[in-house]
Amino acid sequence: MKNNKNSVIFPRALTLLPGGVNSPVRAFQAVGGEPVFIRRGEGAYLWDVDGKQYIDYVMSWGPLILGHCHPKVVEAVKTAAENGLSFGACTEAETELAELIIDRFPGAEMVRLVSSGTEACMTALRLARGYTKRDYIVKFDGCYHGHSDSLLVKAGSGAATMGIPGSAGVPEVLAKLTISLPYNDLDAVEKTFHRMGDDIACVIVEPVAANMGIVLPQDGFLEGLRHITGKYDALLIFDEVITGFRIAKGGACQVYDLEPDLICLGKILGGGMPIGGVAGKREIMQKLAPAGEVYQAGTLSGNPVSLAAGIATLKEIDRPGFYDELKVKTEKLAEGLLKAFTNANIPLTINHHTGLLTVFFGGHPVTDYASAQKCNMQKFAQFHRRMLEAGVYLPPSGYEAWFVGEGHSEEVLDRTVEIVQNIFGI
Ligand code: PMP
Repeated sequence: MKNNKNSVIFPRALTLLPGGVNSPVRAFQAVGGEPVFIRRGEGAYLWDVDGKQYIDYVMSWGPLILGHCHPKVVEAVKTAAENGLSFGACTEAETELAELIIDRFPGAEMVRLVSSGTEACMTALRLARGYTKRDYIVKFDGCYHGHSDSLLVKAGSGAATMGIPGSAGVPEVLAKLTISLPYNDLDAVEKTFHRMGDDIACVIVEPVAANMGIVLPQDGFLEGLRHITGKYDALLIFDEVITGFRIAKGGACQVYDLEPDLICLGKILGGGMPIGGVAGKREIMQKLAPAGEVYQAGTLSGNPVSLAAGIATLKEIDRPGFYDELKVKTEKLAEGLLKAFTNANIPLTINHHTGLLTVFFGGHPVTDYASAQKCNMQKFAQFHRRMLEAGVYLPPSGYEAWFVGEGHSEEVLDRTVEIVQNIFGI
């Protein structure tokens, strides 16, 4: 696909930005071709710099559960901006957003707001280490918790896509303190704790994994993590940066009826503006500076414009029936896609949860990173290119989630399936 402006901008970007992008997941390295440069979005749609329209299933990688430019969110942002972009001082909105989080997440008693999901996970980890006075952490292969040193070990998302799940530049002495185990493998967790449970500060997990494509927790996995961490006085951290406010109002905590010790939030929390947050039990959260001795700070933390977008978004998705509708929509899309691929004799697996979906090119169940890696990523790349040409903007990697939201009307979902059918000549 050759776009006029796009093909002028991209070479220029390549000379000025490493890889032409400001975040690796935006590059099209895994699917081929040039990244599309976007000018504008509205509802379920994007327009590129050459005026081509796309149905968008990236939705800024999750924050835009209400679609692009929701009028109430835009209005809230405008009003906040007119009052001042940042103060580096306390505002009432910080308390308001903290209350909205605490209302929604069982077990959350206090909140620290930061500026990204990476910061949230990094802060939760330091807090867990400071609180328990232990150094080791347990994570799961293919889960992504942002790009802080300790968490870039067998990481998912862009790190998996680029084949650098353990980044250069992470000191080995630090990486050694991160134990990465197969997702859904409770036995491996039990054995690890049996061996060195007294040295492990925490287990951090995506309760529904979304960064190796969507992988659901098997029955008893999350409950097992709660039990084992409790037994060894280690903390359980749910990284709900993607699942928070998406799979339910109170995220995975609500869906699986579990109370982790700490919860990492981001994305929807800021309605499209930069934000992150750590929520958790009072006794642990009180260890954060200035109340306690675990240091964390941020010039733009709790930024008033981000708070305004976040508060407007959380209030809007609070309406009765929102999550039922989102679930129905996601199921409709998954069923439509499955039918189209089955008719075209293409074996594939679709994993989905409310507002989240991944099409895996492989007929086997995808339950962990190893099974996700067995999927045919070249087939995904081909599919991605044809969908893009036909006007559907999918995440440019087979290891990512498609984000379904309020912007995706029945008509948009039907159109998406129709496009897939046309591609395969059904
Ligand atoms: N945790 C999870 C589960 C994520 O999906 C991401 C980003 N996709 C992060 C943490 C990091 O968030 P951010 O990109 O805002 O730093």
